[in-house]
Amino acid sequence: MSSPRAARDSSRTNVAILGMGTVGAGVARLLIDHGDRTARHAGKTIWLSKAVVRDLKKPRGIDLPEGVLTDSIDEVLNDPEIDVVVQLMGGLSPAREVMLRAMEAGKDIVTANKALLAEHGGELFTRARQLGRSIAFEAAVAGGVPIIANVSQCLSANQILSLEGILNGTSNFIVSQMDEKGAGYEETVKVAQDLGYAEADPAMDVDGTDAAQKLAILSHLAFGATVDWRDIPRSGIDGLNPADLRYASQLGYRIKLLATARLIDGELELSVGPTLVRKGTPMAEVRDAYNAIRVIGDAVGPVFYHGLGAGQMPTASAVVADIIDTAVGRTPITFQTLEYFSEDRPARAVQRDVAKLRGRYYLSLHVANHPGTLAAITGVLAEHKISIASVMQHEEHEDETTQKHSNVDSSFVPLVIMTHEASEGAAAEATTAIAALKSVDGRVVRMPVRG
Ligand code: NAP
Repeated sequence: MSSPRAARDSSRTNVAILGMGTVGAGVARLLIDHGDRTARHAGKTIWLSKAVVRDLKKPRGIDLPEGVLTDSIDEVLNDPEIDVVVQLMGGLSPAREVMLRAMEAGKDIVTANKALLAEHGGELFTRARQLGRSIAFEAAVAGGVPIIANVSQCLSANQILSLEGILNGTSNFIVSQMDEKGAGYEETVKVAQDLGYAEADPAMDVDGTDAAQKLAILSHLAFGATVDWRDIPRSGIDGLNPADLRYASQLGYRIKLLATARLIDGELELSVGPTLVRKGTPMAEVRDAYNAIRVIGDAVGPVFYHGLGAGQMPTASAVVADIIDTAVGRTPITFQTLEYFSEDRPARAVQRDVAKLRGRYYLSLHVANHPGTLAAITGVLAEHKISIASVMQHEEHEDETTQKHSNVDSSFVPLVIMTHEASEGAAAEATTAIAALKSVDGRVVRMPVRG
């Protein structure tokens, strides 16, 4: 059931924005203040016809022409002159229903809503194809960094072999501030909130959910894999101990919340979690709210993308580029030929069993300071066929964990172990066994090591 593209004024594309929050106001600003520029790049006028909000009285920080602001979505859906709906409402509902209705009303879609695509991408993209409409979503992953276009178009001569990145600016800001200032997790989250880098409830940013949702979208594009973000093994930076950042630094690494997708023997290895990344590599030096993605293609080799993954104008930059691409007809062609998120297309890669993932590991724990402790731990690692690359034992007691533990028993001291390559399954089992030893106090922190 496809509706033909309406024969409209070809010298002008009319746009409606749904949601005039942070991103919507930035998009409106670019369209209104830089109309000449967008017209030059599109070869036609891009006209902001409507901007839909819930609360008409709320200040938007932008002067919209008379008649543009409305609280009626129906005004947009029932207007046959509106060609493109820019969906910036956030959340799953009513965003999903509104997007479906807009496509049924003959509108092409531009959106930054990654949560919606991660959750309902299959349904929305299938429906768009049935209706002959397109959905552009560059801003949904890594904000201003044009990773969607690069992975799906610019690198299309390649088989992508791996893709790893810092996909959540909030957690990268928190980790790099903790690293630079030696500050604790809770106080750094507060700083991030005060500076507008973290929401009042930053849970989805810091627990790895947001990065997993973005990785699922990228995996669809790069590997043709149908991935439910919930199936991606993930951990976050919530509760990260500054002592681990310090120990990692002493070993020559920084800790980053890394999202990874690697093609191994035709299977896709996926993970999101705090990872030790070798200092001096471009990924380790990505600071503050910046995002970065390193892609390896079989023809091009490694390519590195870096930029602001969120914020009003970087995100609006990606949204307006999508509006222009839709207006000139590039997106509709790409959308149909690449069959984004096709439920009919057989998956090109299946997800690899978590236990088969392989890597080196960083273990950090607190141990009783008496003879035989180290032997017990190395014995557990040997049982699981994990060999040790280095051991670092600290005597100092100034870090948070040690202070906490000193309430229990002041004779416990921090111990850090770097392993050689091992399977995730063996490393997980060994970690549980080590944590259960009498000479080990509290949890064992385990992170993969890269580089
Ligand atoms: P936001 O500041 O919370 O703005 C949301 C806007 O949607 C508000 O203007 C709100 O209207 C409007 N809205 C919500 N429900 C509505 C409804 N039922 N009917 C009409 N209007 C409704 O959100 P944002 O930060 O701009 O983010 C928008 C989207 O972009 C989200 O999906 C987000 O994940 C994504 N994104 C954001 C960034 C970023 O840096 N902020 C980066 C990349 C992607 P009122 O103002 O009247 O309440």
